[in-house]
Amino acid sequence: MDVQVKFLGAAKSVTGSRYLVELDGFTFLFDCGLFQGLKELRLRNWDEFPLDPAVIDAVVISHAHIDHTGYLPRLVKNGFKGPIYCTPPTADLMEIMLLDSAKLQQEEASYAKKKGYSKHENPLALYSEDDARMVFGMFKTIGYDRPFNIHERVEIIYRDAGHLLGSAITEVNLKGDSQRKKIVFSGDIGRYQQDLLHAPAPIEHADVLFIESTYGTKDNPFKDPEDDLTRIVNQTFERGGVLVIPAFAVGRTQSLLYYFRKLMLEDRIPDVPVYVDSPMAISATYLFYKHPSFHKVHTTSEDLARAMETNMLVFVKSPEHSKSLNALKSKAIIISSSGMMTGGRILHHMFNRLPNKQDTFLVAGYQAEGTRGRKLLDKEPTIRLFGEDVKVNCSVEFMSSISGHADRGELFKWMGNFKDKPKITFCVHGEGEDQEKYAQAIRDTYKWNVMVPEYLESVQLFSGI
Ligand SMILES: [Zn+2]
Repeated sequence: MDVQVKFLGAAKSVTGSRYLVELDGFTFLFDCGLFQGLKELRLRNWDEFPLDPAVIDAVVISHAHIDHTGYLPRLVKNGFKGPIYCTPPTADLMEIMLLDSAKLQQEEASYAKKKGYSKHENPLALYSEDDARMVFGMFKTIGYDRPFNIHERVEIIYRDAGHLLGSAITEVNLKGDSQRKKIVFSGDIGRYQQDLLHAPAPIEHADVLFIESTYGTKDNPFKDPEDDLTRIVNQTFERGGVLVIPAFAVGRTQSLLYYFRKLMLEDRIPDVPVYVDSPMAISATYLFYKHPSFHKVHTTSEDLARAMETNMLVFVKSPEHSKSLNALKSKAIIISSSGMMTGGRILHHMFNRLPNKQDTFLVAGYQAEGTRGRKLLDKEPTIRLFGEDVKVNCSVEFMSSISGHADRGELFKWMGNFKDKPKITFCVHGEGEDQEKYAQAIRDTYKWNVMVPEYLESVQLFSGI
């Protein structure tokens, strides 16, 4: 049996995770992500898929983030018939996140049309909410540590990746004619010290390893985020401003709620309203209650509620309520998505508050090239919103300590669990020159055979096994 892989994304880019694995008589796609960030990347979402989606037998999903799942509705629209394998929380999260993704794209298309700032006469959305709903019936869920055959020759086992609720490292065991081989997809790896999620599970053996590189060259040592949050909240209120936190609705928002409650109880910050202005974040918070065995705060749902809910917590459901937050002058915290400021309600908060000297934007996670979040961090004087250049006068803070991503040291720690060298290791899910530096560092540290694949490159993984 021969096995090959084709890199359909997240090869020299952080977004668009999708790897096509082909063996005799069976083809599966590992992850099915959307390209985000730079326009040249986003345009790839519109390219014709390199093969007829109808010939793909299955999709295996590592976790629910859109850069790993956001292309699914398009794949289904173009003929893929399922199944889609994932963990139970990932299935629930995908329902929320794919609908949100569809909505954002529809909104952006209709806004571009209304304002006439698109080059296209009739800007289209990549897919609709109805397209997204078509995907949900195809989910087949598998818990952690349970071997499951997706084909007579292919068994998968999910291990806890500690990156997002339900996120997985995936072991793929292949039964060849004469040999057994193992491919490991790291997916996105989480941190070793966390408030809500477990540390990433160790893996000791792989013939072929796909290792993520998001923070492959950056150290982000664990630092208790409480001191930073206390300082930022208090400084903002002393200036008479509002603190706005663009946050990923799932994970980051729940961690922030956990810390704000703790800081209020300890009287380190005043009791002020914390507005969760994202319907998706509200639904995602509920999923922490629904899947107690997939995170650490699992004694009882009552404990979890107490751990995450400040007594000043306000869930903002309607768009009208969201817009009314523009009138707030001070002593309030607004958490809104999307985390990279590419869409969602955060945009109108940016439009209103970026020009305000007294307000603070706290950027609390990775920002891909080309996103508004990256521009804000790069201290660009204006940010383009709704077809206008909006001045940035507010304070901008960056806090990486509640990142969902392992840093350089933690990625090497995780790779250090391997008892023998993988035959080949692919560095994926990283940007630019950093990829090559990271690959060289792995070669230097572990003497592994490491490759940085190109977009659309095909590689033979095994022959005649
Ligand atoms: Zn992720």
